[in-house]
Amino acid sequence: MIYLDNSATTHIDESIIEAMLPWFRDNYGNASSIYQLGRQARVAIESAREEIAALIGAHPAELIFTSGGTESNNTVLKSCCHESNLTDEILYSAIEHHAILHPVAELTHQNKRTSLLQVDACGILNLEQFEAIQTTNRTLISVMHANNETGAIQPIEKLRSLAPDALIHTDAVQSFGKIPVNIQTLGVDFASFSAHKIHGPKGIGALFIRKGIDFKSHQHGGGQERNRRAGTESPALIVGFQVAARQAATEMTARTETMKSAISLLRTLLNDTMDTIRLNTPLDQSLPNILNISFPDAEVLDGEAILQSLDIHGIAASNGSACVSGSLQPSHVLSAMGLSPAEAKAAVRFSVSKDTTEEEIRQTAHTLREIIAALRE
Ligand code: PLP
Repeated sequence: MIYLDNSATTHIDESIIEAMLPWFRDNYGNASSIYQLGRQARVAIESAREEIAALIGAHPAELIFTSGGTESNNTVLKSCCHESNLTDEILYSAIEHHAILHPVAELTHQNKRTSLLQVDACGILNLEQFEAIQTTNRTLISVMHANNETGAIQPIEKLRSLAPDALIHTDAVQSFGKIPVNIQTLGVDFASFSAHKIHGPKGIGALFIRKGIDFKSHQHGGGQERNRRAGTESPALIVGFQVAARQAATEMTARTETMKSAISLLRTLLNDTMDTIRLNTPLDQSLPNILNISFPDAEVLDGEAILQSLDIHGIAASNGSACVSGSLQPSHVLSAMGLSPAEAKAAVRFSVSKDTTEEEIRQTAHTLREIIAALRE
């Protein structure tokens, strides 16, 4: 199987599994308990918190562990609106992940004021539109750091300078471990992270909450995570996240080079061998691992058929569109960039990892060309 689906979820590296196993097998204590096994788990969790916090330029007390990006995003939005009562209005971009769009829809349904921020044709936040918007210290802005479908990196620092008093949240699930993510440089108040985009385990992530914010738990129960996220922590998953984050940081330069050359080769091969493709990933302002393409003659192509044919040929790719009642919907990200519904449906998002080989890229380009040619017949 050539795995070119959502970021570096290729596999959990063996070294990460090794680091996690003792926390399943031997050190199974509950980190909130006072006996020795519990204390050992607590030490492991706090060491992971320290290391991951340092990687993003945060203080350990500013980081809570969650079950992943979805929970971190939901927690920020819902707690700011309800438990913490920090906001009267949410501004969010049109290209956010469903883990932002769906909770925003729910909050809108509950009569919260919410407004959509537009992106340009490259899928990058439209700052001109933003400049005209008045924000206050009770405005919560949620704009992702990098998009999961196109890889486009968003101007978060500029957003901060244009809205100095607002609360800013960024979903950094895609960018963390691929490009430097420093919450001081970005100037954000909240940031969401997930381990499974960086070869770590699924089901673990983190939420950065800037010091000084009176943030109250959205999930109620025990007093874990300084009363900000109830629920027994999983030392094994947290340690897996820690090792994955460490490796991503240490190897970032080498991984970036590998991923960039794979994407560049794929782009060249597709451009050279197929007469009409549109590149939906901006060349300079994007992650090193994502290439999104579509076809201007999309009316004659079936998005599902492209992905299914790739799968039959052993290539796992995706297009980021939601599947509703068994049928593929046009991607909301590509639609926001101005693509027609047909084109936004028949797009392909390739996401390479540090393990992607040149041979896999050549085979993918060749196979896609044949599939598209057959569909056009
Ligand atoms: N945000 C973005 C940008 C993502 O790409 C994803 C997952 O694909 C998520 C949030 C959800 O993260 P998780 O799967 O850890 O809940």
